[in-house]
Amino acid sequence: MLFDLTEVLSGENKVIQREIPLELNAITYQQEEFPIVAKTPVSLTVTHVGKKEVLIEAEAKVTVRIPCDRCLADVGKVFHLNISRGFDLQVEGETRRRELDECSFLDGFQLDVDLMIFNEIILNWPMKVLCREDCRGICRKCGKNLNEGACDCDMTELDPRMAKILDIFNNSR
Ligand SMILES: [Zn+2]
Ligand SMILES: [Zn+2]
Repeated sequence: MLFDLTEVLSGENKVIQREIPLELNAITYQQEEFPIVAKTPVSLTVTHVGKKEVLIEAEAKVTVRIPCDRCLADVGKVFHLNISRGFDLQVEGETRRRELDECSFLDGFQLDVDLMIFNEIILNWPMKVLCREDCRGICRKCGKNLNEGACDCDMTELDPRMAKILDIFNNSR
């Protein structure tokens, strides 16, 4: 949803607080789409510090469904977002354009709340997502989720080096 900053700019030290519903339903990241399964409205506070300088503060809690890196089970990753950024809306010309490139969620006096939240989620995207710290993953041979119990696969067959060592061991007996 777009939030118009012109109102807050109408007076010095003016503060506007709003609860803005988040329209975002999924996060597309590295060519994959991750659904948003829970979200709070964005608690937005915009302060006109003075001379067209604004402070944008936003808080939201967004839960994204991401598969576990090892076993692919669904994990509800909760992002607690806390944004606080200042912008000088008076800056003109080249500087302004450069700043806008860096923050595409601010187009003129229009603040794209969804895009701002999206950017923040990407910034906080975890390196690794695990359903639990000691996730055992899935068997590379039969595909069984090893968190649900061991499978009957002979894993020694999978690693040729290991098989060779076992051969030597068996022959020497
Ligand atoms: Zn897992
Ligand atoms: Zn197996």
